[in-house]
Order: sequence, then structure tokens, then C-alpha cells
Amino acid sequence: MSDAGQSFVIVCDLDDTLYLERDYVVSGFRAVGDWAEKQLSIPEFGNVALALFEAGHRERIFNTALQEIGVGEDRGLVERMVGVYRGHRPTIALQDDISRFLVEEYSLGGLALVTDGFREAQQKKVAALRLNELGFSPIVVTDIWGREFWKPHHRAFLLLAECFHCPTSNFVYVADNATKDFLAPNQLGWTTVQIARPGGLHTKQPPTADHAPAAFISSFDQLPDVLGFE
Ligand SMILES: [Mg+2]
Repeated sequence: MSDAGQSFVIVCDLDDTLYLERDYVVSGFRAVGDWAEKQLSIPEFGNVALALFEAGHRERIFNTALQEIGVGEDRGLVERMVGVYRGHRPTIALQDDISRFLVEEYSLGGLALVTDGFREAQQKKVAALRLNELGFSPIVVTDIWGREFWKPHHRAFLLLAECFHCPTSNFVYVADNATKDFLAPNQLGWTTVQIARPGGLHTKQPPTADHAPAAFISSFDQLPDVLGFE
């Protein structure tokens, strides 16, 4: 139930908003590690890559892990590993608070998703989390249009505005990364909410006031209060 007859369209980001991106990274390194062991008889790749990630490495982890294992620079091999990583069926789960929010069956005007990231990887995540079955529609993977349409491009948000016939003030975007997530919806007059999850990878300060969210939460349990639900 929402107050004053205002029927909110809740649009969510995916990574570190609905599930922990860290879990996807662990799942991906395991998949690549298993592949390297079976296909190439390279043991320990998954563990070495994960240790690098845990130590704070974020760039060229596959190259560095191969070096540490003693396999020389091999661009073709790294490309194949990236393909396995992005194409693997991830072991990830919705965070409990979003599950609780969804079972409440608030009278929403809509529930949708806007996510950046490589198309195949994002689609595998959407499938693993069964977001279609949970009622997210539409699910917009911006990469289907190309990298130039990743946030903060307006295209995904304008598409949603066309899908739902309600005032822009009824749209809410819940996401984690202030460097890119809130600029476009702010400019379009949406309400923006930053979710800062313990363990999130990208919770950063907004670079300008235009990038800043209107509200902060640490879990979806707080969203009904922020939006004034009864
Ligand atoms: Mg995110």
C-alpha cells in the first residue's frame, strides 16, 4: 500500500543492489579455475585469482594470476578465461531484505531493472536470480545497445518512462554506485535512493551534487519508510 494514491514504479540496479557482486566474482573465479584445471591442467588458478581479489586487486587479475602460477603472458588464454567467466552460470542469491520487500506485495505501479555490465554476464545473473519470475519487467540490460548506452546515459530510463504511464515523480531508482547510477534519473525528475550494503564494492561519493541520491538506505527494509508507504 502506498499513501496518497501514489503508485511508485520501483526500478532497481542489479550488482550490489539485489545481490552481492563479490559473490559473483567468487563464483566466476571458481568456474574459470575448474575450467583451467580440466581443460589445461593448470591447478589453483581459481584460488590464486581469488586471493588477488581479496588483496584488493581489481585490474588484470587473470594475467597476474597466470604469472604467479608460472604460465607466461598469453593474451589468447586470458581472452578464453574472460569468456568462461562471463559465460558461466553464476552461483549467486538475492539478499534477504529484497526478498522480504518483494513478498510484502506493496501496491506498486511497477517493478523493473536497469543494469550495466557485459550483456552475457548480466543476462546469466538475471536468470540465476529468476528476476523474471519475481516480477521484474522490463529488465533492461543497457549493453544490448552497446557500451555507450551504459549509465549515466538516459536511454534505459527514458524507455521505462515510456513503459509506465505515470508522472516522473513516481519513479524510484534504487542503486549503489553514486559515480554513475543517479545522474540520469535525477535529471529526469525521478527519486533516487542509494543502497550501501556491507560488502558492496562500489559505494562511492557522488562526484557532483547532480550525481547525489535523494535518500540513503542500507537495506530494502528501510525503503517503505523512505517512500512513505503505510
Ligand atoms: Mg550496482
